[in-house]
Amino acid sequence: MRVGISGTAHVELAAIQRFDLGILICKSCNEVITTLPTDRHVKFYGLCKDMTCIEKNKEANQ
Ligand SMILES: [Zn+2]
Repeated sequence: MRVGISGTAHVELAAIQRFDLGILICKSCNEVITTLPTDRHVKFYGLCKDMTCIEKNKEANQ
């Protein structure tokens, strides 16, 4: 199935060229946790897996 293989390669290339404009930032250390495929620049705030940040967040909620 040569046609199927070349079709897949084309899809992968398109995926690489698409930018992830949405970024998820750790609100504690400002580290970029991940990027999200959104159609405009958006910042989301979350927490990374760093124990320091998780502990800080617990304190902030008290
Ligand atoms: Zn963090």
